[in-house]
This record gives sequence, structure tokens and C-alpha cells, in this order.
Amino acid sequence: MSHEDCLFCGIVEGTIPSVRVAEDERTVSFMDINPATEGHVLVIPRAHSKDLLEIAPEDLAACAVAAQQMAGRAVDVLGASGVNLLNCCGASAWQTVYHFHFHVVPRYDDDRDQLTLPWIPTPGDPDQIAETGARLRGDEA
Ligand code: 5GP
Ligand code: ZN
Repeated sequence: MSHEDCLFCGIVEGTIPSVRVAEDERTVSFMDINPATEGHVLVIPRAHSKDLLEIAPEDLAACAVAAQQMAGRAVDVLGASGVNLLNCCGASAWQTVYHFHFHVVPRYDDDRDQLTLPWIPTPGDPDQIAETGARLRGDEA
């Protein structure tokens, strides 16, 4: 199912041009037009779903496997020394295109200025961490 006004559905259908690098029954992988580093690829499901919360588990699994393959290509072909896999779900998490996608961002030893950790690691309050963990587990209050 595709959505008329969706940019990435247009890329799946070929009505919007893209540099495609891989595809299979469920997924399409193509170059990001604003690459964070050389070889930045987006992996999307052929079927439209807007984000991580909506995507069907089978499509999510297929995208994860395709992303793993792209990561391997980045290392083998481009000489990347690492890879970041990123998904943004919702505007507060930086999502700008509402068709699920994984960013596969190859990392190189000298690219530190191009992509940095988006938070400053700071020790949290252990009680708060434990309490939030309990809420996520669904423990009775
Ligand atoms: P988000 O911000 O939703 O996590 O990521 C959207 C990504 O789509 C961005 O990295 C952006 O550069 C990329 N993008 C936006 N428009 C186009 C387009 O027309 N073609 C391609 N190939 N990538 C796009
Ligand atoms: Zn779409």
C-alpha cells in the first residue's frame, strides 16, 4: 500500500528519482541526498508505514536484515571502520519523513566532526532509573 503524498512511496514506485543500491521483496535501500558521511543509505519498507510504532513486524525485520547487509557493504566496499544505525520516530526524535526508514551511516576513523553523539553521557539518578525500569516492565505501583 502506498500513500499518494509520501516522498518515499514515490521512491519505491520510481516516480521520484533516487540512487538505489539494493532491493528485495519487502525493502528498498537508496542513498540519502544529505549524507552525514560517505555512503549514508536509507533502508525503507516497500509498504507504507509512518514510523517505528506502525510498521509491521515482518517489514521491520526485513529492514533490519537489509540494514545489516548495507552495513557490511559499507565496511567491505567503502572501507568504513564502523556503522551507526539510526531510526527517528516522531518529530521530537527528529523524524522529518513519515515513511519508516533506517539510516545506515558508515563511520570512518577521521569523521568525528561529521557525526557526534547527540547527548552528553551523564550519570543518572539510580532510584529514578530503577523506578522507570519498573514502569517499563509493567510492575504494579
Ligand atoms: P529523518 O529526518 O526522517 O530521520 O530522515 C529523513 C532523511 O531523508 C534525511 O536524512 C534526508 O536527507 C532524506 N531525504 C529527504 N528527502 C529526500 C529525497 O528526496 N531523496 C533522498 N534520497 N533522501 C531524502
Ligand atoms: Zn510512504
